Amino acid sequence: MANSDPHTGKHWTTAYVGVGANLGDAGKAVQQAATQLAQVEGIRQLKLSPLYCSAPIDASGPDYINAVARFQTLLAPEVLLDTLQHIEQLHGRERPYQNAPRTLDLDLLLYGEQYINSPRLEVPHPRMHLRAFVLRPLLDLTPDIHVHGKPCADWVALCADQVLHRLPSAN
Ligand code: ADP
Ligand code: MG
Repeated sequence: MANSDPHTGKHWTTAYVGVGANLGDAGKAVQQAATQLAQVEGIRQLKLSPLYCSAPIDASGPDYINAVARFQTLLAPEVLLDTLQHIEQLHGRERPYQNAPRTLDLDLLLYGEQYINSPRLEVPHPRMHLRAFVLRPLLDLTPDIHVHGKPCADWVALCADQVLHRLPSAN
């Protein structure tokens, strides 16, 4: 099959990861995390969306820098989660309380068409369809993408009240 690895026979699956940070040089952390993720064995063709800036939801602290990364992966979902948490740790991620400000947050948004409900992992990410800072960059990457069977653009329209600024690209 065209989308299989010739050596292992494993399938490349398209995954989307939400990348966010609001402590330290958040923009740099988001860009670096994408670079680190792209270098992982079993990840290819990573593309990072434009960066956005948003006020924290249900929390205090500095504004967030958010983006979404799309890539293909051979890693199983829980292995991918381990990888994301490892990269968070490289950025000094701490979890003092829920929704605390963070140096880096990497959330697995979508893994192919799969629905996953394990103690460690819920996919699609349970709040992604309610968050403009996830949906807008997702739409930038893949304009025809659907979430929970509905066009992403429809979900975006439902959170039009959420203030979000697209940052000018570095290039
Ligand atoms: P937040 O929900 O604010 O991103 P954390 O980053 O601290 O919170 O994650 C808390 C827990 O959420 C993790 O330990 C992880 O096991 C779990 N989790 C469940 N589903 C997902 C997902 N889709 N992506 C990332 N973490 C997830
Ligand atoms: Mg998280």
